[in-house]
Amino acid sequence: MTNTMTKPAAISHWLNGQVTPGTSGRSSPVYNPATGEVQGLVDLASRAEVNAAVDAASAAARAWRQVPLSRRAEIMFRFRALLDARRDDLARILTREHGKVHADALGEIARGLENVDFACGISTLLKGGYSEGASTGVDVYSIQQPLGVVVGITPFNFPAMVPLWMLANALACGNAFILKPSEKDPSASLFLAALLQEAGLPDGVLTVLHGDREAVDALLEHPDVAAVSFVGSTPVARTIYEKGTAHGKRVQALGGAKNHMLVLPDADVSMAADAAVSAAYGSAGERCMAISVVLAVGDVGDALVDAIAQRLPALKVGPGDQPGNEMGPLITREHRDRVAGYVASAQAQGAAVVVDGRSQTFDGNGFFLGVSLLDQVTPDMDAYRDEIFGPVLCVVRVPTYEEGLKLINGNEFGNGTAIFTRDGGAARQFQFDCQVGMVGVNVPIPVPVAYYSFGGWKASLFGDTHMYGPDGVRFYTRTKVITSRWPDPASSRIDLGFPQNR
Ligand code: NAD
Repeated sequence: MTNTMTKPAAISHWLNGQVTPGTSGRSSPVYNPATGEVQGLVDLASRAEVNAAVDAASAAARAWRQVPLSRRAEIMFRFRALLDARRDDLARILTREHGKVHADALGEIARGLENVDFACGISTLLKGGYSEGASTGVDVYSIQQPLGVVVGITPFNFPAMVPLWMLANALACGNAFILKPSEKDPSASLFLAALLQEAGLPDGVLTVLHGDREAVDALLEHPDVAAVSFVGSTPVARTIYEKGTAHGKRVQALGGAKNHMLVLPDADVSMAADAAVSAAYGSAGERCMAISVVLAVGDVGDALVDAIAQRLPALKVGPGDQPGNEMGPLITREHRDRVAGYVASAQAQGAAVVVDGRSQTFDGNGFFLGVSLLDQVTPDMDAYRDEIFGPVLCVVRVPTYEEGLKLINGNEFGNGTAIFTRDGGAARQFQFDCQVGMVGVNVPIPVPVAYYSFGGWKASLFGDTHMYGPDGVRFYTRTKVITSRWPDPASSRIDLGFPQNR
């Protein structure tokens, strides 16, 4: 009998501008979630490999910060053009390792590209302030300088977009960037690294280091790492923030979410149902801005649940590389089973399972799960309390706007939320009242455009700056203020008094 199984491909680090096999002897399997097969083995960096990578990045950072802004912008423009031309290739990598359908992968890339667009304007973004004549003969001005070596640690669910949120600004600001992508779908980051090299980025300025906790701990403890951007689950985000800041680093750590969509009785039910279905089940619910709870206010509940349920049988779930499919598999078998467990627990705790994704069957060994709709969910149920991160939508019935708002504001997370209504006054009141970082008005997934910044409140973000956009530039630079005088030497004298305006 011939063996038809192909050997898993080795996935290695990107160091000094080339693919470099790891030396730790440790690796982690990379699955094709649509087939369940192990298609790759990604190297996991040891502490010694991390230390060597940081040393190399430090040397690269010293040269890179001296490269003129115009040249850095030129590299970003070229990178933008290359990425634009290679969207399809990158999307195929995303589908193969993450599982999301091709159209969704293209959407991820488009949103990532926005951040490169933004970074192309780095010359304007780094303009400082200047005050002529702050005192007699004295001028004051500010400059923004890069930090040195900065690190990005990214989650599995956006293997291209989240690295682009970070690296476009970090590099354009003049830093060396070390990316530690998710070990579950690591190949997109290598693709981005090769494109940046082709765009003219000097070798060593971008490093891709694969790894798990050992590598992350080594990065957090290394004295030459100046800052860490993290996106992932809340328990890890909290740890990264605490460890990183304890080691004197600037840290922004974005965590998990439980996003509520508040539907008022005057909302257009059909539009609200379309939005809920798109935002709950897109990318199999593995989005930090996915809607996972619909709060149906007053008497809108029955019509809304009916409208959502009617739409679900038509959704096409299957391998992401097959045209027409709208939702792919989950990232791992364990995660798929965990998500299915929430449907079971909600049922046991008294929720109505209107559509049961567990009953849909699929050929092969992929990590597929059908979509589920749970009604009559209450806040004490596990399916309401936890971030499920899968294709499960919970409907909670609330009598009033105020009761809905209380749930949103009482939730531990505060990433995104949305209100659906035709009442402008109610929407305006909601944007004022809600304790959430990103708010949609008749927009279910309000991910800010790249010239704003992305970030939640409460347990969805640890740190003071949001990610990308103006906050990203602030995060990846530090400000220096220069007070200068070019006096007439004839007026020079000794003065031991405290400097003051004259
Ligand atoms: P995760 O927290 O498991 O992993 C994120 C990164 O941290 C990965 O690179 C991983 O290798 C590393 N990591 C995991 N455990 C670690 C540990 N103990 N010590 C050090 N490093 C560790 O998250 P995930 O499962 O890859 O991604 C899904 C989560 O990310 C969800 O909770 C989702 O809401 C969240 N997320 C948040 C945002 C946001 O913007 N707020 C965006 C995307 C995803």
